[in-house]
Amino acid sequence: MRLEGIHHITAITADARRNLDFYTRVLGLRLVKKTVNQDDPTAYHLFYADERGSPGADLTFFEYPGMERGRPGAGMVHRIVWRVASHDALAFWEGRLRREGIAATREDDRLRFGDPEGLGLELRVSETGDEPLVAMHPEIPEAVALQGFDGVRAYSADPGRSRRFLEETLGFAPAGAAGFEARGARRGSVYAYDLIARPGTIGAGAVHHVAWASRPEDHPAWRTRVIQGGGRPTPIIDRFYFRSIYFREPSGVLFEIATIGPGFAIDEPAERLGERLSLPPAFEHLRVELERALTPLPSPRAGGDAAVRRS
Ligand code: ZN
Repeated sequence: MRLEGIHHITAITADARRNLDFYTRVLGLRLVKKTVNQDDPTAYHLFYADERGSPGADLTFFEYPGMERGRPGAGMVHRIVWRVASHDALAFWEGRLRREGIAATREDDRLRFGDPEGLGLELRVSETGDEPLVAMHPEIPEAVALQGFDGVRAYSADPGRSRRFLEETLGFAPAGAAGFEARGARRGSVYAYDLIARPGTIGAGAVHHVAWASRPEDHPAWRTRVIQGGGRPTPIIDRFYFRSIYFREPSGVLFEIATIGPGFAIDEPAERLGERLSLPPAFEHLRVELERALTPLPSPRAGGDAAVRRS
């Protein structure tokens, strides 16, 4: 039983319109689901990913309009790392970000920058043979596009206290200094720590949790294993697009284990993903009220997929 790397990463935005513009127009991801936070349906839950909405490429945001900026500290993820194919891709992104007025730092095989609310982002030249998870964008050639997550970096006051849980319970393998790899049969991701003891604050531009991907048939057993490892998972929660458990790892970072599937095509056709507000059946009766309350958002693919693919 192995986790298949990262399933999705969830962060917070105070400004869904700017967030949507940055992740779809600038970074070239596809909005694959526009839905609500199932624990607070008055807030958006936006999912950006590759063309198919694959686990391993989903970055999701809850929108809380006007929320103050967060500051990452101990027990929080502070950087999201994506794969790109080559140094040429890094050069492409360096130029594209510069033209957008976004400061970026190039360091050998990586490029670091922040999103409009200060969320730490990094592109890294991929060394894996994992399938690239790419979205189509008229200005971004496939050869330089983001290819899904390489991993995340978290802050901890004492990363050593997580080692046993990560290795023995979750099956992560040591990888470099204060780093681990969660690798399954098809895909892997890196989870690494940087030392910081000060506490952080959750808010706009902060990561809320990171979810690891489980085969659906293994999911109940993962919950049992987390309990045996000393974790305190929630019951299995049906999120409609996948099933989830949540718990904190010993350094305090909120983890989720989510099933690969059913996926985002369960309630809209694959070619129309993200175009309308998707509400799981339990929330459909709130549609009129929610459509009135949620920030109106443009559809990034208005004009149709054919126009997008013409690149
Ligand atoms: Zn989640």
